[in-house]
Amino acid sequence: MGRRTRNLQAGVFVHGFDIPLTDPSSYERAARRNAETLRSVGVELISVATNYRGLHTDWRDSHGAALASCLALWAGHFDTGLIAASGPYDVPALRWGSTPVADRLLSSRGFEIAHDGADLTRLDRARILGEWPEALRNLRVCWEGDPPDVNCCSCEKCIRTILEFRTVGLKLPSCFPRDVTGCADPADKTPRSQCGSSVTAGGGCRPSLRVRTGLVGGGPGGKPGTLCLHRWPQQLPRLVSLGPLS
Ligand SMILES: [Zn+2]
Repeated sequence: MGRRTRNLQAGVFVHGFDIPLTDPSSYERAARRNAETLRSVGVELISVATNYRGLHTDWRDSHGAALASCLALWAGHFDTGLIAASGPYDVPALRWGSTPVADRLLSSRGFEIAHDGADLTRLDRARILGEWPEALRNLRVCWEGDPPDVNCCSCEKCIRTILEFRTVGLKLPSCFPRDVTGCADPADKTPRSQCGSSVTAGGGCRPSLRVRTGLVGGGPGGKPGTLCLHRWPQQLPRLVSLGPLS
């Protein structure tokens, strides 16, 4: 999003954050896709490897500093490093490792750290990405995939992102191998005709999907702590208003 106001020249992709150092193949595949996306807008991909995860810090508290550290390696080559905002300004998340207030304090005299894109909601970002074919093909939002370079389509972050694309009227981007379908409660026999999904098989939704997050309570037909996606259109306002994503 920084391209709107900055002369972006490079994007940094870190090996050792969400893809373990022990899995170079997944990192190389993800790096190739990221490079293709960046190349389409004339931006270079820079690869960085770190053993930061070996420090066993809490990622939720420390990821802003970790990202800033990797960006600061390039001081002397660039004057500013951008950290993509976790959420918009009107969703306060002060107890989070990256915020508009804290990130800029990681700047030094010769290298600025800027928190970028908090003026946009996640739906705004989905609309912008909808006009970027390479991004729709290569976007990776998930850190729970198996292998880790693939969006799993069943974690909270994948589901929310897919629904955000749907909310702004876009089809399922090809970076997601499958749609959000299924129901957290196998006993829920909601007819397929009432299900918001387009790729259900057989007479109903797959029962395997379970949103593993404390953020989401039981929806219609769901159990406490899970989210029934049979009727995701009704759940959408709540999903898109959840807190920042890691
Ligand atoms: Zn996922």
